[in-house]
Amino acid sequence: MLCNKLYFVIPCYNEEQVLPETAKRLKDKVRALIQRGKIDEGSRILFVNDGSADRTWEIIRALHEQDPLYSGINLSRNRGHQNALLAGLMTAKDYADMVISMDADLQDDIDAVDEMIEKYLQGIDIVYGVRSSRAKDTFFKKATAEGFYKIMNTMGANTVFNHADYRLMSRRSLEGLSEFQEVNLFLRGIVPMIGFSWDVVYYERGERFAGESKYPLKKMLSFAIEGITSLSTKPIRMITGLGFFIFLVSIGMLIYSLVRHFTGATIVGWTTLMVSVWAIGGLILLSLGVVGEYIGKIYLETKARPRYLIEEFLNKE
Ligand code: UDP
Ligand code: MG
Repeated sequence: MLCNKLYFVIPCYNEEQVLPETAKRLKDKVRALIQRGKIDEGSRILFVNDGSADRTWEIIRALHEQDPLYSGINLSRNRGHQNALLAGLMTAKDYADMVISMDADLQDDIDAVDEMIEKYLQGIDIVYGVRSSRAKDTFFKKATAEGFYKIMNTMGANTVFNHADYRLMSRRSLEGLSEFQEVNLFLRGIVPMIGFSWDVVYYERGERFAGESKYPLKKMLSFAIEGITSLSTKPIRMITGLGFFIFLVSIGMLIYSLVRHFTGATIVGWTTLMVSVWAIGGLILLSLGVVGEYIGKIYLETKARPRYLIEEFLNKE
């Protein structure tokens, strides 16, 4: 018997508009792969409903009843993309030999899957899907998204450039992932830390099939801050550097002030005072904020609240 059972994991939040089409295309893909003997009969498409407010879960349930190829997880409430994805991965790892995670909106080219599986069959553990171009994204989305990767990297959060959460993972790399207990989850940063052999597959990123993006600029910004602060302490190190620099400047200021004092020209200087009070005050507040950001993370980690709760799991073995 082959042991190349594949599970697709698709997090879905208010995706009723795209779900039927996504389900259809994935089914065609899985059928074709089974026919070509690339993957096992028992392969599944696992949708994770992340507390949608629309008919997403009803659709998933209906799909599951129509065809055992479809499985579903219903989370107890909305927990966000990363947690929903983790719920799917951690569930799928007990059934599958390889798992491919993908967004529900068909922006990631399904045909890249063939190449990912080829690589898996050659013994690669983690295959990252990387966008070769963003020709179809709006200028704004492209600029902000690429800026996102660049800022992340300079801040010490190393991620694979232009890779979102479209990737194949082998069972043992998922076992590895399950050892990472952190509550502040940023999968794109954690997965490269797992190690094992890895490779990339390039694909064209398309437009959202229907519905609208669940990642507006505001969410993307907080996602970036989240990513940086959960992966690296470089911002704190930068504050230390800044503090050191300002200390050096203050020595200069001290000498300058003394010279002015002894030459009897101490009255001028209102502007310098104003500027330094505001500048230093601003820097202190900013630094306090950054440190606070980390303390907030520690707070959440010590509580170790569950990252997701599964209300229902539909799966026919
Ligand atoms: N998603 C989710 N929970 C959320 C927000 C989004 O599971 O709270 C899912 C969503 O259904 C989609 C994926 O995460 O499958 C990516 O979201 P989206 O396509 O809106 O992001 P974008 O591609 O615009 O960055
Ligand atoms: Mg999308």
